[in-house]
Amino acid sequence: MVEQRFPIKVNEAIEKVMEFAHQGQTEHISIEQSYGRFLSESIIADHPVPYFDRSLYDGFAIRSKDTVSCSRTNPILLEIIGEIGAGSVFRESVDENQAIRIMTGAEIPFDCDAVVMFEHVYEQQIDGKNYIQLDRNSAAGQNISFTGEDIQKGEVLLDKGTFINPGTVALLATFGYKYVPVGKKPKVGIIATGSELLELDQPLQPGKIRNSNAYMIVSQIVRAGGEPIYFGQFSDDIETCYSQVKEALEGVDMLITTGGVSVGDYDLLPVIYEKLGAHVLFNKIAMRPGSVTTIAEKDGKLLFGLSGNPSACYVGFELYSRPVIRTFQHAACPLLRIETAELGTGYPTANPFDRFIRSSLIVKEGKLLADPVGLDKSHAVTSLAGAAGLIVLPGGTVGYHAGERVSVMILEDQQGMPFNSEVNETRTIPNG
Ligand code: AMP
Ligand code: MG
Repeated sequence: MVEQRFPIKVNEAIEKVMEFAHQGQTEHISIEQSYGRFLSESIIADHPVPYFDRSLYDGFAIRSKDTVSCSRTNPILLEIIGEIGAGSVFRESVDENQAIRIMTGAEIPFDCDAVVMFEHVYEQQIDGKNYIQLDRNSAAGQNISFTGEDIQKGEVLLDKGTFINPGTVALLATFGYKYVPVGKKPKVGIIATGSELLELDQPLQPGKIRNSNAYMIVSQIVRAGGEPIYFGQFSDDIETCYSQVKEALEGVDMLITTGGVSVGDYDLLPVIYEKLGAHVLFNKIAMRPGSVTTIAEKDGKLLFGLSGNPSACYVGFELYSRPVIRTFQHAACPLLRIETAELGTGYPTANPFDRFIRSSLIVKEGKLLADPVGLDKSHAVTSLAGAAGLIVLPGGTVGYHAGERVSVMILEDQQGMPFNSEVNETRTIPNG
């Protein structure tokens, strides 16, 4: 007799999985390696930026009060008494009607309070001395970048959990972080099951297919920031699969299997979970594709039993494995970001399950448009290649028409969304 399974809602499934999501250890890595990682500590400014008043342009540092009466009809002359290159300082006094040649980024001399650009002065020599002629007055502060203008000392520059992008790297470098505190990457194991699976370099044979899921998952793990460890593909033999899963689990932080979670005769994962003494969180979710997605936990490690159907496997990973992998790395926003988009194609038939449709994402006339790509079937592979987003169609009694406003999960995204178990409905799917 086929086992009866009771589907739970997607949001509930995410919540159950996230109960077992935890942050991994932290490590200090060189700043060159830090792109794509997540800060494990907040970064606080230990000095202001700029650190001193700096010139914004190449020109002359002057005292604005010397220019008060200056105009086109009443030009003034200031004597050039020194020069400061970037990185040098001028510590002498600057007296009335004197100016200092200054380069962009150099420190403003103590007595000066404005910079006049080269383009706005006329240089001349009189009796062997160098002068600039000005024909307009300057306001105090003109062309100066003041101490602390960008960042004040003590300010929180970056919160822990921040994704490190090139701009973040610039900020870290500004504050002298040769080494950066980040969350470790989880080791994520992958095992493919199915007696029909061929290796990629094997010729096609009747009844057999190439194992595309394993490689898809490897790259999904990389995209999520994890470290994939592929253990190989195994035929549907209970003893082989059991020992592979058991052994693999020992060396990883979490394990993903693909295939073998349905209720078919060769679907071995339920038996393996039982043999392992793993606690099955759920084995049916009210979603399409991927309703058979099964997730279990053994000694605090999660086992993601993803479907063998490529689209179902893909969606199952993005909804459940990705946030756990990101949380491990200390990401503050581990869930896929959701935006509102216009639905490109109608789905008139109602479906009681939440649907996740692979879509392209383009902006047209100022609106984000989500258009389904490829075949909308759980076994489809083509739709995955063009997927920039997953359109979310909450299950219910009505269908959806083209042009309707829908939620779409952004796949190629580093911003993400926070997981907050208190605000369920803002998190993933309306009523999902
Ligand atoms: P299963 O979840 O094992 O019942 O498999 C569901 C469907 O996905 C079957 O048609 C399998 O042949 C196919 N499938 C299983 N594993 C893979 C894989 N690694 N790559 C591509 N397709 C697969
Ligand atoms: Mg199978």
